[in-house]
Amino acid sequence: MATSLLRVCPPGELLRPLAVPERLLLGPGPSNVPRRIRAAGALQLLGHMHPEVLQVMDEIKAGIQYAFQTRNRLSLAVSGSGHCAMEAALFNLLEPGDTVLVAINGIWGQRAAEIARRLGANVCELLKPPGKYFTPQDIEQGLVQHKPLVLFITHGESSTGVLQPLEGLGQLCHRHGCLLLVDAVASLGGAPIFMDQQEIDVLYSGSQKVLNAPPGSAPISFSERARDKLLRRKTKPPSFYLDMGCLANYWGCDGEPRRYHHTAPINSFFSLREGLALLAELGLESSWERHRANCSLLCQGLLDMGLELFVEEEKARLPTITTVRVPEGYSWKDITAFLMDKHGVEIAGGLGPTVGKVLRIGLMGCNSSRASVERVLGALRDALQRCPRSRL
Ligand code: PMP
Repeated sequence: MATSLLRVCPPGELLRPLAVPERLLLGPGPSNVPRRIRAAGALQLLGHMHPEVLQVMDEIKAGIQYAFQTRNRLSLAVSGSGHCAMEAALFNLLEPGDTVLVAINGIWGQRAAEIARRLGANVCELLKPPGKYFTPQDIEQGLVQHKPLVLFITHGESSTGVLQPLEGLGQLCHRHGCLLLVDAVASLGGAPIFMDQQEIDVLYSGSQKVLNAPPGSAPISFSERARDKLLRRKTKPPSFYLDMGCLANYWGCDGEPRRYHHTAPINSFFSLREGLALLAELGLESSWERHRANCSLLCQGLLDMGLELFVEEEKARLPTITTVRVPEGYSWKDITAFLMDKHGVEIAGGLGPTVGKVLRIGLMGCNSSRASVERVLGALRDALQRCPRSRL
């Protein structure tokens, strides 16, 4: 007769020690976490309403204002990855029936359109082929034709490796009575962006790219114009968790006493605070220059190997993530697996419209270094010699 009520045994795999190998993460994110940020994440917990944690949140807020170059008081980090910030932006800005114009030149526009459709918004699409960016003329045509309340555009298109120029887009949108929503998950800290000067209304990013923190917290900021739209809503945002009114209070952005909303990922906030501190210590301009210089070193090395870059125009190349065409006769899977197995280096294949077409190499934050460039170029040279050919 059974002596225990348990029918499911403790899993053997959990009784063995956790094993995490050392790897150089040169995909499109996450990137490696430096010791100082790891140490912050490993600190003992405090309660989510303790004054010391609220103080860390205030410091994060100041770090976001610096990284975004904004004085917006509604600046905070949502408890989730980049997608969480994307949903927070769209859930709060849009109401059913609102028209949103989504600039699609890769997967991130596609995702934003998908989320907006689920909200019952009237979604209009502005299309460009992967590898290309939108001109102010393209945008103006879309604004005139569709008269949207919100325009979504991606600054660093990580599926294609394109850096979208933002100059003048905010002013253009405002002339047409539209708010500008920008995804900078893959570009923040790696390429210049000036939220206030560029009149961006909602800007968000993620923790695990240039900021070198683990995934799980995502900076976001709303302009006064965007706040007005939130205040004029006729319906509540469909997500309680991402309701900006509640989050604004928890983050001390509304001048009211702070109230419990949800239990924040406190250790993720410690890590994010340190990621923002490293950026502040280095300085935005030095960080942009470091990403530019290492990206151009990488691009030159790839061209010297006879490889072809996916984004033709040099100024349109994203300094954080480089896309290179899969060399003819090779399988992208063989190359990425070879780099991982033989060199302990992660790079990625394509995503969405670039699947099968490109390899993506990320150089972000502390991973944007001459040493990373040399290591990935050496590993790729080795792959081209030793990977099988014509097995597509
Ligand atoms: N937007 C862009 C431009 C991204 O590169 C990513 C992550 N690859 C996301 C949004 C989504 O972020 P996450 O994976 O952290 O949810």
